[in-house]
Amino acid sequence: MPAEHHVSLDDIRAAAARISGHVLRTPMAQSSSLSALCGVPVHLKLESHQRTGAFKLRGATNAMLTLSADQRKHGVVAASTGNHGRALAYASRSVGSKATICMSSLVPQNKVDEVRRLGAEVRISGKSQDEAQVEVDRLVAHEGLVMVPPFDNAAVIAGQGTIGLELIEDLPELETVLVQVSGGGLASGIAAAVKALKPDVKIIGLTMDRGAAMKLSIAAGHPVEVEEYPSLADSLGGGIGLDNKLTFSMCRALLDDIVLLTEAEIAAGIRHAYEQEREVLEGAGAIGIAALIAGRFKLSGPTAVILSGRNIDMRLHRHIINGGELENAT
Ligand SMILES: *Cc1c(COP(=O)(O)O)cnc(C)c1O
Repeated sequence: MPAEHHVSLDDIRAAAARISGHVLRTPMAQSSSLSALCGVPVHLKLESHQRTGAFKLRGATNAMLTLSADQRKHGVVAASTGNHGRALAYASRSVGSKATICMSSLVPQNKVDEVRRLGAEVRISGKSQDEAQVEVDRLVAHEGLVMVPPFDNAAVIAGQGTIGLELIEDLPELETVLVQVSGGGLASGIAAAVKALKPDVKIIGLTMDRGAAMKLSIAAGHPVEVEEYPSLADSLGGGIGLDNKLTFSMCRALLDDIVLLTEAEIAAGIRHAYEQEREVLEGAGAIGIAALIAGRFKLSGPTAVILSGRNIDMRLHRHIINGGELENAT
């Protein structure tokens, strides 16, 4: 493999040994409806059943377990309103450390309460995610807290990559993986594991059509800034960081394609997951199903679809299931 792959199969195997017992080894379920639709066996990797409701617990737990005893004593910090914040809150408590999650004053109270309930301290600071990040930097500089970033970090990528090991264990005849791409930690980790074990497996990245930071960055040849739009797949929002160190080069080298989905397609994925698979998924979690029912691929053989998370506002979920209008529809 080219030298620019910074996270290796050995790193991912070490992560798997480390986090075993702290996170769920999630099941794979064959989908009869999607297998019939696509004409090949389609298997759902139920990372939505992971503790805290999303895969991010794997990376956060691996990061916590690679810290020194002294670092763990000081605690960790991140600016996240979503699944990374939840994961870090849970993971830090499970290893006897402490997380501080910085959020802006505009973050809805239910998100604040959820992170507190998982055991983290919440610092409200500023009126935007960038201003919350200023507080993170201050806590790192002045109080010795360790920042755990959501994707561009070797321990986090290796933790997410443990999903790839499980895919090959459970489905050795695997030919295609459909995986969400935002910052690229999930896709980098899974692709590094799967391609090291079975180089011919195709790894297709998926994201929403507006603000597709990784796809635009790969096209430009370097990380680019993108405008952010509201989306049903809110967990896929945000950029990849202009000083990206790992996930840009890993995704560029390892992903076979990145495919974009509209809001209406993502809504159809959420509905199909609920009605046919009996799964509650957030938009990001349902995007693989969305791509299959939109008929975006000609699949050659056994396919694994990552269901990455289920943390959706249940009022929004009911609205979508009932076929309600989409505010941000394209
Ligand atoms: C964070 C997240 C993603 C995207 O992961 P990246 O590592 O940022 O690419 C996908 N789905 C869910 C549910 C997430 O929370």
